[in-house]
Amino acid sequence: MFNVDEVRADFPILEQQVNGQPLVYLDNAATTQKPNQVIDALSDYYRCDNANVHRGAHTLSDRSTHKFEAAREKVRDFIRAAHSHEIIWTKGTTESINLVAYCYGSMVLEEGDTVLVSAMEHHSNIVPWQLVAARKNAQVLPIPVSDKGEMAIETLETMLQQHSVKMVAIAHVSNALGTINPIREVIDLAHRHGAKVLVDGAQGISHWPVDVQKLDVDFYAFSGHKMFAPTGIGVLYGKEELLNAMPPFLGGGEMIETVSFAGTTFNQLPFKFEAGTPNIADVIGLGAAIDYLEQFDRQQLIDHELDILNYAFKRAEECQGINVVGQAQHRAGVLSFNLQGAHPSDVGMLLDQQGVAVRTGHHCAQPIMAQLGIPGTVRASFSIYNHRQDIDRLFAALEKVKQFL
Ligand code: PMP
Repeated sequence: MFNVDEVRADFPILEQQVNGQPLVYLDNAATTQKPNQVIDALSDYYRCDNANVHRGAHTLSDRSTHKFEAAREKVRDFIRAAHSHEIIWTKGTTESINLVAYCYGSMVLEEGDTVLVSAMEHHSNIVPWQLVAARKNAQVLPIPVSDKGEMAIETLETMLQQHSVKMVAIAHVSNALGTINPIREVIDLAHRHGAKVLVDGAQGISHWPVDVQKLDVDFYAFSGHKMFAPTGIGVLYGKEELLNAMPPFLGGGEMIETVSFAGTTFNQLPFKFEAGTPNIADVIGLGAAIDYLEQFDRQQLIDHELDILNYAFKRAEECQGINVVGQAQHRAGVLSFNLQGAHPSDVGMLLDQQGVAVRTGHHCAQPIMAQLGIPGTVRASFSIYNHRQDIDRLFAALEKVKQFL
């Protein structure tokens, strides 16, 4: 049975006081905290196994390679990919999307083609496409989003009919508004019109089981650090035939088969996209984070987060002077809001003084903030170790902020 107190005991960072108050950590959409199991996997690796992978002729290198490749297999299983060579290690979601935009985008985009992204995307799912579109004389167009934060799926269909769309790139979950996008429908629609789909799973991956084969998604990108793993490690899943067709991203060691001045041939997947010494320890840390998540009944985690989210929304409704930003029907564990008459950054600072950690600002989603006519929001985002008392502390602290402002 899921027990939030037991979960909290796995996260040593939560035990501290901040500004004289017990820490309430509500900035999980920015990065999640790390359980002992992940911290121990990292320190065990450096204490016992540290060596470079794949080429070593010695025991430590064999051990490192084994753990490194075992983590890849864990990711494959975690997202139900068909092959572990469809799992490419990157630094994070940002690098994964850049890889696809650069390699796949450069390969398929022609003058006049279109890449569609939703109007609520994170900058990392906009700018890489703008960069490649500029090189190819193609265009990036936003799929409209209502002020409630819901994507206009009918308009997507019209746009797919009107333009030569090669790629639809869309977030599984909006980090700014918490909207859960209907990725299944988007993928089906895009495929019917001959476009490929990249899903930015940065905010989706820690919340629900993802089955890339059932979704039939072409590319799925995510970051380890938003699912209890270290920073600096992320994943690009891509369908084998697409990854095979794409040119390499970075050049160097590991990604080659043979090198000569007459010409170089490239390694097979996944190594073709993994130039240089990889981030071995953090790959192993990501494997440990998956082991950690898999010990739970995922449905219980989902139910727990929903309970916290619904409780937070109820408290927000009862709280005078709060405008909730993002009211989509399907939402994940994010409460984005503004306090009337107060700048989000002032609210964030005054919450921090009371030990409550939130994020403030545009959340790297300036286009949707511009549409809503606001400079940003205060964002409280939840994870498996948050409990209702955290929400009570947030709202008690907000009452004090109101008095102060
Ligand atoms: N997309 C979304 C929806 C995100 O929330 C984030 C992180 N805030 C990113 C992309 C970028 O992730 P990273 O910084 O880990 O590359």
